[in-house]
Amino acid sequence: MTGSPSVAIVGAGLTGCLLACYLARRGERVIVYERRADPRLTGPEQGRSINLALSERGIAALRGIGLEDAVLADALPMRGRMIHPVAGELDFQPYSAEGTLAINSISRGALNNVLLTAAHARPNIEIRFSHRLDRFDPASGELRFSTPDGVRTGSAPVVIGADGARSAVRGELVRHGLSSETVDLLDYGYKELTVPAGSGGFVVDEGALHIWPRGRSMMIALPNPDRSFTCTLFWPDSGAGSFAALDTPTAIRACFRENYPDVEPYLPELVTDYQRNPVGVLGTVRCAPWHAVVAGARVVGLLGDAAHAIVPFYGQGANCAFEDVVVLEDCLDAAGGDWPAALALFERRRTDTEAIASMALANFVEMRDKVASPLFKLGKTVEHALERALPGRYVSRYELVSFSTVPYGAVRRRVRRQHQLLGVLGAIGAFGLLGALGALLRVLARARVPRPGRR
Ligand code: FAD
Repeated sequence: MTGSPSVAIVGAGLTGCLLACYLARRGERVIVYERRADPRLTGPEQGRSINLALSERGIAALRGIGLEDAVLADALPMRGRMIHPVAGELDFQPYSAEGTLAINSISRGALNNVLLTAAHARPNIEIRFSHRLDRFDPASGELRFSTPDGVRTGSAPVVIGADGARSAVRGELVRHGLSSETVDLLDYGYKELTVPAGSGGFVVDEGALHIWPRGRSMMIALPNPDRSFTCTLFWPDSGAGSFAALDTPTAIRACFRENYPDVEPYLPELVTDYQRNPVGVLGTVRCAPWHAVVAGARVVGLLGDAAHAIVPFYGQGANCAFEDVVVLEDCLDAAGGDWPAALALFERRRTDTEAIASMALANFVEMRDKVASPLFKLGKTVEHALERALPGRYVSRYELVSFSTVPYGAVRRRVRRQHQLLGVLGAIGAFGLLGALGALLRVLARARVPRPGRR
């Protein structure tokens, strides 16, 4: 890169790399500082590979910069949930009415590597690895980093914190009284296990997201291109069924034989994985404002998990973070390239990030508890029938969140109205067909949703 940077991004994760590519296209000179060494050389952290479900919002943002095909080349489509009861038949539940729409399993590391390579290829982006931000001084605009060669400093007129849920940039804004935050930790953690490929390939259907719902806890599994599955346990932090409650190899094996009997034979490294892999923390980060004007015209903003980390149960954290980049670009266009004005406009996105934060929390209960119940399945059947009967007028929450770019806040409002509609249908018996149809038409007249894939 020639000349001094116009934008400094802290964090070369998913958000930071995609943002760098979008800003470089606008002609900004971008410097990205990353705490880790180059992950393309070192690989992902042990037990923290994280498989993501990438869906329409994330894909649309990648498409916007020409990266959709490169990313999806590493992904596997999942067209529904496969429910594994303790005993009995597996139950496949398609995500969409026609059973054709899919979310995509991809490892966070593979996705990050594609984005890093794309950013590296642009002449006006420089990435400095092994630079951990420790301090930001709002009075001077100076960024201070720990590196293997000692302390280094940097600065730019615009600083964006894309440094994840435990953002150091956010921490500095809070420390200097420029923002405030709340971090609501879930009393659940997560741990990864691996189901290796069997001699015949995938040991369970690779076209589904597998769920073992167990009431208070659950396990999920997503397929990998090497025919293995990455399983993630979501277990409570304390009490019966918690990670701490299993402390011997015999207890670990016995627990899996009892609760996950169909997959236990395919986990040859279960005890080693279980004892070695860390328990990750889950939580929701709320922070306001997301930006501050400092040191004259300099401005600092937050994006992605740094601004609004959410629990992973709707598979939307990265999708939402990618969408942030597109929304920020729209704000920059609307503000004629004026960064403080654009970041002020971006604050309006909080309505949407709040909506997905609460939908993600609610979905945990659905995934770990409700998906196996006959009532839930009946509800899904009715919902899909309504979607087929009223295309574009009745669209399930899952489709709106995962297969469209309708803003999350609008999704929540829309779904409330659809639930009113279901109430009306339920009232058919009580009020008679004509009255209910009248009410139904009134609700539908207020609600028309673009087909999935349209904003
Ligand atoms: P991160 O990915 O955390 O990247 C932040 C980057 O900043 C990292 O590279 C980090 O090393 C760097 N950094 C941190 N601190 C510093 C510092 N002080 N100085 C310099 N660099 C720093 N999302 C989905 O969309 N779908 C899913 O199915 C899904 N499943 C998930 C499952 C689990 C178990 C978890 C935990 C998350 C899941 N997510 C999912 C969420 C997704 O992983 C995050 O939303 C996404 O990674 C956020 O990207 P980011 O770039 O904002 O933050």
